[in-house]
Amino acid sequence: MNAKTTTLTDKRRDIFRRIRSRLEAAHKIFVVSHLDPDGDALGSQLALGEYLGKIGKEVYLLRDSEVPEKYAFLPGVENIRRAEELPEDFAVDTAVLLECPSLHRAGSSAKFLTNGVEIINIDHHPDALELGTINWIETEMSSVGEMIFEYLQAVDQPISKEMATALYTAIMTDTGRFRYPSTTRRTMEIGGALIEAGADPRRICDKVYYDMRPSTVALMGRILNTVEFHLDNRVCLLSMSSEMLNETGAGISEAEGVVDFTLYGRGVLAGAFLKEAGESATKVSLRSKNGVNVGEIARQFGGGGHFAAAGCMIEQPMKEAKATLLTLLEKAIDDR
Ligand code: 5GP
Repeated sequence: MNAKTTTLTDKRRDIFRRIRSRLEAAHKIFVVSHLDPDGDALGSQLALGEYLGKIGKEVYLLRDSEVPEKYAFLPGVENIRRAEELPEDFAVDTAVLLECPSLHRAGSSAKFLTNGVEIINIDHHPDALELGTINWIETEMSSVGEMIFEYLQAVDQPISKEMATALYTAIMTDTGRFRYPSTTRRTMEIGGALIEAGADPRRICDKVYYDMRPSTVALMGRILNTVEFHLDNRVCLLSMSSEMLNETGAGISEAEGVVDFTLYGRGVLAGAFLKEAGESATKVSLRSKNGVNVGEIARQFGGGGHFAAAGCMIEQPMKEAKATLLTLLEKAIDDR
């Protein structure tokens, strides 16, 4: 494979040197990504985990939340273990945090980050905190999957078919199928290199987007039925109650990705998908286009994400959370 079309900047060369020397010195490592993992979180974790195994490290891939079933095809995904299954005295010398802008996003794995654990923090979120001993944060990267590819290539690690599948999934999902503005010529070159290394683009796309369980389609139907347009059709809201899960037999992770529908309507500039989270809290996913900053809205509630894709928990019941959001979305649209 030859996708060596980027020249390493001095900054990247230095960070790669530091990451490499830390990983080579490490014996026992855990790799964790964020709560409610998406394709980028899982794919990046799997590819990096395979690499660490190949260079002889004892490696643990950790998670808190359920893996959405659409990612069950990812080779090795069953090896990502629940952090809570590990004994209290579980200890590593090195931890890699992927896509965790804050420690809270790493979930319960954060309790293993005791004194002396070297942390390598890799992220592309603009609100990423410098949590690590080594922090590789590049906000213009489309995905952490793209970052992991660049690292593996810089250390001359051959990309196996499994790694290629994991990284292609990571990049495809975090770029909205190579569509978001973060998609560059380099992203496409990497996509091509991953296909050459064995990723099957048709199969991966079908598995993620077109192979839903009947319960997922039924849940999606209920959610789409809640559609509301506001502010001259510039805002679209979708919502999900706990009852919808009971009625369809779907798990909460089956709603992953539904938020994308909020931007399908003509003229819509911002969308929100609200999920009931108990009686007095609402989990919100936000999406926008044409310069509307929804990341800023999420941050007001202690959440985060990107300019055009973000999320947070609002400590209000659904109805109030909707009203609160509409006020903020109107302002974000006016301010653009
Ligand atoms: P999604 O809406 O797909 O769950 O997330 C969109 C983006 O917002 C992702 O980058 C995700 O990591 C981030 N995000 C979603 N929910 C939260 C949250 O509660 N806190 C933080 N800090 N980021 C979030």
